[in-house]
Amino acid sequence: MQESNEKNKQKAPAKDDIQNKIAHSDGQVKGEIAKIKKQDKAAVVVDNETKPEDKKSAKDGYYYAVALGNIVCFPKFSFTCDINNSLEAQGVELAFKANEPIVVVQTSRPQISEDGGYEKIGCLCKVNNIVRKPDGLIRAFLVGTTRVEITKAYTKESVMVKANVVEDKNAQSQKAYVMMQQLKKQLRELKTEQVVAPQLGEMLLDNELEPAEFSNLLGLALSKDNIKLQKTFLNEIDVEKRLELLCDIISTLIANIDTNKYIERKVNENLSKTQREIYLREQLHVINDELNGCVDEAEEFANKIKELHMPKELEEKALKEVARLNKLPFGSPEIGYVRNFIETVIELPWDKKTPDNINIKKAKAVLDSEHYALDEVKKRILELLAVIKLTGKVNAQIICLAGPPGVGKTSIAKSIAKAMGRKFTQISLGGVSDESVIRGHRRTYVGAMCGRILAGMKLAGTVNPVFLLDEIDKMARSNQGDPASALLEVLDPAQNDHFKDNFLELPYDLSQVLFITTANYVRDIPEPLRDRMEIIELRSYTDIEKMHIATQYLLPKQEKLAGLRRGTVKLSNELLSVIINEFTFEAGVRSLERKLAEICRKYAVAKVAGTKVPALNEQNIVEFLGHNRVKKLDIFRGGQVGQVPALSVVGSITGDVMLVEAVLCEGNGGLNLMCNPGKMMQDSSKIVHALIKSRALSWGIQPKTILKTDINLSIPQTPGGVEGPSAGITMTTAIVSAFTKNPVRSGVGMTGEIGLNGRVFPIGGLRDKLIAASRIGLTECIIPKDNEEDLWNLPDEVKSKLKIHMVTTIDEVLKLALENPLTPVEEIVEKEKQEKEKSE
Ligand code: ADP
Repeated sequence: MQESNEKNKQKAPAKDDIQNKIAHSDGQVKGEIAKIKKQDKAAVVVDNETKPEDKKSAKDGYYYAVALGNIVCFPKFSFTCDINNSLEAQGVELAFKANEPIVVVQTSRPQISEDGGYEKIGCLCKVNNIVRKPDGLIRAFLVGTTRVEITKAYTKESVMVKANVVEDKNAQSQKAYVMMQQLKKQLRELKTEQVVAPQLGEMLLDNELEPAEFSNLLGLALSKDNIKLQKTFLNEIDVEKRLELLCDIISTLIANIDTNKYIERKVNENLSKTQREIYLREQLHVINDELNGCVDEAEEFANKIKELHMPKELEEKALKEVARLNKLPFGSPEIGYVRNFIETVIELPWDKKTPDNINIKKAKAVLDSEHYALDEVKKRILELLAVIKLTGKVNAQIICLAGPPGVGKTSIAKSIAKAMGRKFTQISLGGVSDESVIRGHRRTYVGAMCGRILAGMKLAGTVNPVFLLDEIDKMARSNQGDPASALLEVLDPAQNDHFKDNFLELPYDLSQVLFITTANYVRDIPEPLRDRMEIIELRSYTDIEKMHIATQYLLPKQEKLAGLRRGTVKLSNELLSVIINEFTFEAGVRSLERKLAEICRKYAVAKVAGTKVPALNEQNIVEFLGHNRVKKLDIFRGGQVGQVPALSVVGSITGDVMLVEAVLCEGNGGLNLMCNPGKMMQDSSKIVHALIKSRALSWGIQPKTILKTDINLSIPQTPGGVEGPSAGITMTTAIVSAFTKNPVRSGVGMTGEIGLNGRVFPIGGLRDKLIAASRIGLTECIIPKDNEEDLWNLPDEVKSKLKIHMVTTIDEVLKLALENPLTPVEEIVEKEKQEKEKSE
């Protein structure tokens, strides 16, 4: 085995690891080492005075010796060493030449010449070769053969020792063989390559090996880099003891490895346990997030429900749902429904209410401070509040605020809430055709939720809000059920203390809610609902009312919203009138408010930019409000043949004036309506045509002319369609004017239904129509006498601007409307005859 010390250092990392472990296990085997260590360290006597006698040689037991500090030589151990001591080097050279062995001994002293430090047991070595180095010293290639016991050392002139070969004890004992086999087994288990170099491993497991040799080799391998341990092995001449020591080392090693493996496994286990825990916690976190913390929240839900002070049985039902939430398997779609249900229960008010604080004086002050005019409405509201205060009941009569958009229905309802100190909430019923919108969907539906009534209650947050049901007339009936009947239950004081919403499934008490409804057209409110309500009408505003509202309420409000000081925007009455008449077209003041907001925003921009806003006037107002200005039409003012201003209601919302025109052409006596008339209009036009034919002679129209003429009648299309019969007298006047070429008097407008015998019947929306007539600049209006009663609430400013003629027959209309009186055909013929005679 030619193996240098250097070479021994090159080990596989795994092996190095094991070696380290052996080194570290040193402490653990110390006890065992101490037991077997009987060597007297300073036993070798060094004689540096006397020279060993001449011719003393190996056969006399004298050997040249080399003392090495860092190498412990073992039998069978081959190694290379540089001999730095010239005396030693000389001895090695002599021994080599004489083919004699030398003794290699370990010393703890750096210099051999110094006293002591020699180990008692050394190793006899064969000098295989020597090489002289350039510095004169030599490098020797040695191989250990056997242990020797040194009795004396001589260091004068040459280094020599007196030594006796030591025989191994118990080298052939049964125990030694058994222990060797046991060690081999353990080595195999350990995998020899982890403990020793592969070549040495092979040798160790070789069956030929004797226990003594085996123990030397394994001892050398296991004690590598541990001089103390090496010396212990070398000093031990009892093979059994050497093997015992090896057993101890190997067992400790195995135990260490096992412990390490155990620790490693534990660390891994702990790590993976921790990782698993982290992973699971993360997963739980994500799931909780997804379900919005449903697991942890169940308890929270239960606590919240208990704080709601719901009726006992409802609370029990809700808590049951909470318990169910916890039991539902992960991923169940029901979790969403149940959770949604519980949240709805929690969000709803159950016992929270605001105390009613009704003081009629204060209530009046609130209503007045927020609304101009509307005296009748305010009076009625105060009556309502007084009754509520005295009876403590809110829903004896449901109020319906009816009127065109923008006349203040919503804001009156808000003021009522303010005057009572209640919360305000509102839902719109426009377009609702499905009962479930009111009552909610059953929970089994995907995306089910509670109905709008409960949604409104959630927003209010109290059990006694003022609840505005907006646009009650815009509900429709469909095959999805009748929303009106659901609403009936909501509004009926006999039923609404246990209102059943399909989603909530629990009865909910609406009896303390003050419901107020709004509608644009009373006639469109479903009959059963209308029966339950008291209608309070809010009417169109006149220009002057609008002007007051704008200056006293809307402008200050918009200035504040735009962050301007009150009075920043200066608008003259003339300019306001232009805005009202030429930039808005409405019964209420919503567009007017928007226009004022636009102006305020422009001021805000200028303020922020540090620029100055030019004084507003009629010319530059378009820069503020755009070019969508509508000028009053002059055609209403100048008298024309066949053209009559008709007073109408646009979209049944607001009054307007439009021009009805009749143009005649050659034909077969037909009547063409140049519009898309509804059924009533068609009927009305047929009546007009028949009436004209039947009364033609008295109005100066030749019947045969009518037969040869086609009448083209144009009635402008309006947003609400051309529907009502109220243009009857207008159509008749236009056609008669066209046939008789008699112009219609300037500034005269009219409205009235016509009967076949020429009677004028009453119409609807008179107030709005007359307000529109005065706005457009008409000066006279012809209206049915039967509408006289409707004039009671016509604003004075309108009355003062308009001359109103009340008529019962079409003859009165024609007389008032046409510039020239009509002459019957008979008279015309007579007159023509006389004129002819005169000229002859
Ligand atoms: P509606 O509900 O009838 O459609 P709103 O109540 O929404 O109308 O009124 C539109 C705007 O006009 C609101 O800002 C409101 O305050 C204002 N308004 C309407 N009527 C008056 C009034 N008489 N006095 C003061 N502001 C009014």
